[in-house]
Amino acid sequence: MLALTDTTPAYRVLIVDDDLIQGVIICGVCTRIGYEARSVSSFQAAEQLIPTEPFDCITIDLSLGDRDGIGLLRLIAGLDPVPRVVVISGCESRILNATVRMARAAGIFDAISLPKPIDLVLLREVLTARCQDGHSRRRSNDRQRVDITAEHLQQALQRREIYPAFQPKIQLSTGRVVGCEALARWDSPDFGSVGPDVFIPLAEQGGCIKAMTWQMLRDSMEMARAYIGADSDFVVAVNLSATLLSDATIPEEIERLLNETGFPAKSLMVEVTETIAMADVFRAMDILLRLRIKGVGVSMDDFGTGYSSMSALARMPFCELKIDRSFVKDCLTDADMWKVVASSVAIAHEYNMKVVAEGIEDVDTWQALDAIGCDVGQGFEFSRALPLDAFAAWYDAWHLRLNATLAARG
Ligand code: C2E
Ligand code: MG
Ligand code: MG
Repeated sequence: MLALTDTTPAYRVLIVDDDLIQGVIICGVCTRIGYEARSVSSFQAAEQLIPTEPFDCITIDLSLGDRDGIGLLRLIAGLDPVPRVVVISGCESRILNATVRMARAAGIFDAISLPKPIDLVLLREVLTARCQDGHSRRRSNDRQRVDITAEHLQQALQRREIYPAFQPKIQLSTGRVVGCEALARWDSPDFGSVGPDVFIPLAEQGGCIKAMTWQMLRDSMEMARAYIGADSDFVVAVNLSATLLSDATIPEEIERLLNETGFPAKSLMVEVTETIAMADVFRAMDILLRLRIKGVGVSMDDFGTGYSSMSALARMPFCELKIDRSFVKDCLTDADMWKVVASSVAIAHEYNMKVVAEGIEDVDTWQALDAIGCDVGQGFEFSRALPLDAFAAWYDAWHLRLNATLAARG
């Protein structure tokens, strides 16, 4: 008879805690799950061990005697692959939440926190939960970043490998589709599916961002025409990148495109991030104002992530504000995030702007945002960005479901 031996390497956990009893308890939980656990009780010991031995998961007590665990987070963020991190601390929840946010921003995508005194059931659940694939995704992006050149991108544009996918924008109070955002996608025969976070910066550096944006604009207008026929309020949004916002000819060129195609200006929205808008306020103001005068909508994208949010809001002629998904994602569980979301909604309304919440991933968030008057939502709860035909199929199915729900309610 064949003996089957499990050759899968054990899942390795490092426990960093200056409280020896706590360290022993966490070690015990890990061992019972079948993990290989190691424990150190000082910052210095952890600092020496972390770069030299691979761990799948590291639990860190924030207070380590005369040192704190924050310095270790910086060290861990530089590892490849980046392990999972569980921050354990008796500090107040705001400090714990802020630490997790900082860890994620530094590149530890799979960072979570647990309060002390530690709940062993919760600890076991957290340790057995599947790791998110954030770091592997980042590695593959990094690899693509190195390999792809501006020439590849030029070729891809000519071969029409880059195309828009459309993500619906939903009126939160009714569930109606009020428009969509066009997001660039690249299916490359050589590199596979390449994300816009990789190829948009490359297009900007390599000088083909204008050609790409023009292609996105043309394709998006063509797509939206079918929907505007049935619903004249339907608006398609296209992202405008940094380099284009310093090109003073853009408003006239967009106007020419609108005239050529007969596409209504009010059915087009351009999305600009606040950081871009504030980089050269005078020039950006000039371009955005002229677009608004021509009837094109202007949306402030990723609100809250830049350094000048309020100032940009007060000065620029935006008609829509999109709350960045990093705030929306955890707004029901993180009171600090909820405050950002709720105050963004209130302030946007003060300026007579529509508010869009990005990254709605569940029905509870949808309802909570609707309850505070957020106008529109975008996110996986409704749909991911879809290619043309898939969007059409999704649109029909969504409205069938919506009408059936309304009919059932009488
Ligand atoms: P963005 O304009 O803020 O687009 C929203 C991003 O959030 C999209 O990522 C979208 O797929 C993602 N998203 C939407 N809903 C959810 C959700 O519920 N959960 C999660 N986790 N993510 C969600 P994507 O397509 O990777 O685009 C990233 C950024 O790339 C865009 O951010 C935009 O700044 C840029 N980008 C995309 N297409 C273009 C383009 O044609 N031109 C320019 N200049 N930039 C573009
Ligand atoms: Mg956008
Ligand atoms: Mg955004």
